[in-house]
Amino acid sequence: MDIEIATIGGYEEVGRQMTAVRAGDDIVVFDMGLNLSKVLIHDNVQTERMHSLDLIDMGAIPDDRVMSDLEGDVKAIVPTHGHLDHIGAIGKLAHRYDAPIVASPYTLELVREEINDEGKFAVDNDLVEMDAGETMAIGDRCELEFVNVTHSVIGAINPVLHTPEGAVVYGLDKRVDHTPVVGDPIDMQRFREIGREGDGVLCYIEDCTNANRKGRTPSEAVARRQLKDVMHSMEDWDGGIVATTFASHIARVKSLVEFADDIGREPILLGRSMEKYSGAAERIGAVTFPDNLGMFGHRKSVDRSLERVMNEGKENFLPIVTGHQGEPRAMLTRMGRGETPYDIEDGDKVIFSAGVIPEPTNEGQRYQSEQLLRMQGARIYDDVHVSGHLRQEGHYQMLDALQPQHVIPAHQDMEGFSGYVSLAKSRGYTLGRDLHVTSNGNTIQLVE
Ligand SMILES: [Zn+2]
Repeated sequence: MDIEIATIGGYEEVGRQMTAVRAGDDIVVFDMGLNLSKVLIHDNVQTERMHSLDLIDMGAIPDDRVMSDLEGDVKAIVPTHGHLDHIGAIGKLAHRYDAPIVASPYTLELVREEINDEGKFAVDNDLVEMDAGETMAIGDRCELEFVNVTHSVIGAINPVLHTPEGAVVYGLDKRVDHTPVVGDPIDMQRFREIGREGDGVLCYIEDCTNANRKGRTPSEAVARRQLKDVMHSMEDWDGGIVATTFASHIARVKSLVEFADDIGREPILLGRSMEKYSGAAERIGAVTFPDNLGMFGHRKSVDRSLERVMNEGKENFLPIVTGHQGEPRAMLTRMGRGETPYDIEDGDKVIFSAGVIPEPTNEGQRYQSEQLLRMQGARIYDDVHVSGHLRQEGHYQMLDALQPQHVIPAHQDMEGFSGYVSLAKSRGYTLGRDLHVTSNGNTIQLVE
């Protein structure tokens, strides 16, 4: 059976991920993501109403026109997890393919919201729920399997396409975490089995976000301990404490909610995306928050809630808000500008339970936001966080478990791939032979 891989998006950037694997006449598409930085750089762009081709021209969504070079039928669209760089283009591209969208329950819940928010296209692909550990047939001779992985959002899986020529493992995005706080540990045992059963692994496509970083990405349990230490150190502070993190990072939000209670404060989730991601996690039963946990997304309800905080005393509350990257319209940035009823006063604490995404626009916005908060006397606790992506020792572990015949680095640009290329070379791979460094819009024929 001939096997071909199309590297459509996310091979020159972190963002707008999309890859297709053709096995004979059957094609499976992995991810359809958005590159948010290409959208945010333009003022007031409303992507909901924009046409796919305009977004492709902006570099915001994958240029899927290369799909017409693949001779076969798309049998499934498989988003690996709910981050926007993996599902954010589904509203714009999925309707072009007569195929179901197959995803884990939490990812599928977020896909549903993407489709509902889409204002230009009617996306009526079937939505099929599949859990980690389950499989489905793709055509007559292939099988799709979901392997549980750990990442900074719940419900992440690595899809595996079992073909007569061996398995194709799509490894985006993950870290090796045995104590993930919410959900199950990464299923390394299954990866080792896949590496050794039948014809083994034909090809492994790897998440290279942190490929240039040495050592091992710590577990979410480490971030939780760090956060506990920071929050318990504030137990005696009788002023304001505000925390911010990735709204989609349910494990972290859960830790924040629990530690707020430990130090005698009522947690409240504020901001549209806080409400969206935590609401979805509760709806599918992935997490249970206290009954009285307030979640407010709309401007008016947010303001009312902050007025209550000011009336009843800031020392009784922990607002958990959006704005960890200094996004201009997010809650924390608005708090810094004094645009909300919440007054930041001398000595108030602000916890950034997030790293800074290393991208110039982002770094600038985050710097501004911090300065605004500092000017009002806020004390900043930053980087109370661990990354959701493998570093080099995780990449080594994955190569060791899977023993793939071919590897394709993804989820970075050329510079970002370099650490992975060095590692793969040291493990016996050769550029151009079985180590394929590629860019957007290419196809790689693995078996003819
Ligand atoms: Zn991700």
